[in-house]
Amino acid sequence: MLKPILFLFALMPAATACHAGELASRPRIVLSPEAAQIHAAGLLFDGHNDLPWEIREKGNSSFDALDISMPQPLLHTDIPRLRQGGLKAQFWSVYVPAEHEKTGDAFLQTLHQISIVKAMIRRYPETFEAAATADDIERIVLSGKVASMMGIEGGYSIENELSNLQRLFDEGCRYMTLTHSRSLRWADSSGDEPVAHGLSDFGEEVVREMNRLGMLVDLSHVSQETMKAALAVTRAPVLFSHSSARAICDHPRNVPDEILPLVSKNGGVVMVNFYSAFIVPTEQLKNDKEARGTLHNVVDHIDHLVAVAGVDHVGIGSDFDGVPRLPEQLESVASYPLITQELLNRGYDTASIHKILGGNILRVLRRAEDVAKLIQQE
Ligand SMILES: [Zn+2]
Repeated sequence: MLKPILFLFALMPAATACHAGELASRPRIVLSPEAAQIHAAGLLFDGHNDLPWEIREKGNSSFDALDISMPQPLLHTDIPRLRQGGLKAQFWSVYVPAEHEKTGDAFLQTLHQISIVKAMIRRYPETFEAAATADDIERIVLSGKVASMMGIEGGYSIENELSNLQRLFDEGCRYMTLTHSRSLRWADSSGDEPVAHGLSDFGEEVVREMNRLGMLVDLSHVSQETMKAALAVTRAPVLFSHSSARAICDHPRNVPDEILPLVSKNGGVVMVNFYSAFIVPTEQLKNDKEARGTLHNVVDHIDHLVAVAGVDHVGIGSDFDGVPRLPEQLESVASYPLITQELLNRGYDTASIHKILGGNILRVLRRAEDVAKLIQQE
């Protein structure tokens, strides 16, 4: 049987043969009953999903136009696939573009995005329920629904008013990403020139007020200087709601190794983003900017973060419906169980898998609630 195989390889162009070689060493992942059971027994809590923005853009802010109880091939997220993926809890992003800082309506537009999430929960009450606390999340998950919290993406949403933080907290927002793609006067973006060189005095006040409220400080999108400044000020654990490992993919949106020990010390969590441009290794991206990568690449990021930060400080922050390109075998919310499968394949025990799926972010949230109570008593 040697000859026919040699013949087949002879027919393949060099690039294809190379690709075939990689596929041979990194096989497609197939879900086993054991992994499916471990996945179902865990509490998958995703740090970032941009469905509300997609509903606004592609569905005119209406669930009549985009009814997610039906399969929606234009989206990464719909209810049938959420169920298949075993999602238990979600931070829905109430992102509005950074341009709204200039037009002066960022806060109002954020309230509009919040209204989309609330409309979703009202329209599909058998699927979603709003959660205000970590205890809420556990109760809602037990009832079989997807526990829903919101995350603000971009500090311009508060329009330089601390009182707006309280308003957004009262609406159900439980984290705020300090910046998006542009630097603010009080915090720097990883995608822009620094202005504050970390945090301004007001930026520090924002972090302290978030601690007081029990709103998590999200360090995705911010510059390395701002990561360090926020980690120095915060009394509660932080999260990176959707960022991967800079050591594997050298993109400014990813978390550098030198920050990871600070995250461990802080008790926080880095929730891995699935976007191909953040997960495909640097060298491979140099040759092919459009490279998609595979689910294996995403689990490489998880492995790296576990090795450097520890298994208590890693989570899942897909960025579904917020990115244009996703790895093979991670094309939608239906794919999550394959992550559990690959973690199992790499020797992770059930307890560690459950921490990564959601146990860690739930711990972070609960700790932030405790810190808020302490501060409010001071
Ligand atoms: Zn983002």
